[in-house]
Amino acid sequence: MSVFTAAADQSLCAPLPVLGKDVTVPLVTGGEVAYAALDYAASAPALQRVWDDVAAYAPYYGSVHRGAGYLSQLSTDLFENSRATVAEFLGCRADDQVVFTRSTTDSLNLLAAVVPADCQVFVYETEHHASLLPWRDARVTYLNAPRTPAQAVETLERALADREPHGPALVCVTGASNVTGELWPVKELAAAAHAHGARIVLDAAQLAPHHPVDVAELDVDWVAFSGHKLYAPFGSGVLAGRADWLQQAEPYLAGGGASRKVARRTDGGVDVEWHSTAARHEAGSPNVIGVYSIASACKALTEAGFDGLVAREQHLVSTVRAGLAGIPEVKVLSLFGDDAPRVGVISFVVEGWNSSHFAAALSAEYGIGVRDGLFCAHPLVRTLLGSDPQEVGECGAPEAGPGEGSLNAIRVSFGAGT
Ligand code: PLP
Repeated sequence: MSVFTAAADQSLCAPLPVLGKDVTVPLVTGGEVAYAALDYAASAPALQRVWDDVAAYAPYYGSVHRGAGYLSQLSTDLFENSRATVAEFLGCRADDQVVFTRSTTDSLNLLAAVVPADCQVFVYETEHHASLLPWRDARVTYLNAPRTPAQAVETLERALADREPHGPALVCVTGASNVTGELWPVKELAAAAHAHGARIVLDAAQLAPHHPVDVAELDVDWVAFSGHKLYAPFGSGVLAGRADWLQQAEPYLAGGGASRKVARRTDGGVDVEWHSTAARHEAGSPNVIGVYSIASACKALTEAGFDGLVAREQHLVSTVRAGLAGIPEVKVLSLFGDDAPRVGVISFVVEGWNSSHFAAALSAEYGIGVRDGLFCAHPLVRTLLGSDPQEVGECGAPEAGPGEGSLNAIRVSFGAGT
């Protein structure tokens, strides 16, 4: 957790040399105040181990796939070895490909760009917008919000059984909700998808930082996640899984790195032979620091093991949920009910309070940083708040005055180091 403490009669003052000035945060309450970012679901602070690994690599920094020099070769090795580390972390099958992207959003847009033209896509309305929206040009069926994990499987089975005609199909589902923290029955959904001849992609943006993900065991076809939620810095992500659709499609981005051979044709045009490996979708100079950071975070998590992390996080979840349950004005948002297994993400509203004002007060008066809004999952939050899921609101915008109730919510989230 990012925590700074200071006595109440002082201001919190931290030097920030990059800005060329000190940053001062006024303290407003008595006693010791913790400045805590309980917002891991948005971005998790990078692990110290990751910063250390990046610092250790800095003197050897060189271009990737583009140089004969020793440092370029070293950087290329680091970059390519990072693929193997990520593949191992995700439990990928031997012939899966690991493509480095900018984020989960980028990974899912990449997959949307390579699905066969006649592919039907099935996505729950409860998804994060990164999973909900990339498919809009494909034939999409939006599935209604289920109220139990079993209902999620039944809804999918019915939709897949009804589909016409029986061409390629893809199901997109999140492993852990960024709103409720609830775990989705990924293995059962994968079995249902495959039984009906469909494929499945797992949005593991919230799952991977909290829970082991085993692609082969879950039997999902692809998995996507973001470095900045997995305790690595911003700017890198992963799409890993089946090679065939990735290899058959045009490159996501055209350019150097994706092309193996380019030649002018006698008719004046250009012939291109694209790479058939992950490089096909990684045109341009890659983000070697970002990729190396993801690999470092994967190693750190593997070495530490998820058991301790999960135990600590579950303790925090039960403590916070028990505390919230004791406040009659608080309603905790849940799709699958209080007993559903969940990661360290809790969203709630407080009767009579505008959630944005409440979140601002938590920061100003107690130094607790949380997220407020609709969490880029507008239909889900609206369903959970009992309003019309078809209404559209702005991400994070205050939507009601104090005392008018809330059309948005407050989210507290934890992770490694909280
Ligand atoms: N999927 C889920 C479940 C998320 O929580 C998020 C981010 O909050 C995303 C996808 C998108 O991640 P990114 O913004 O890193 O692309």
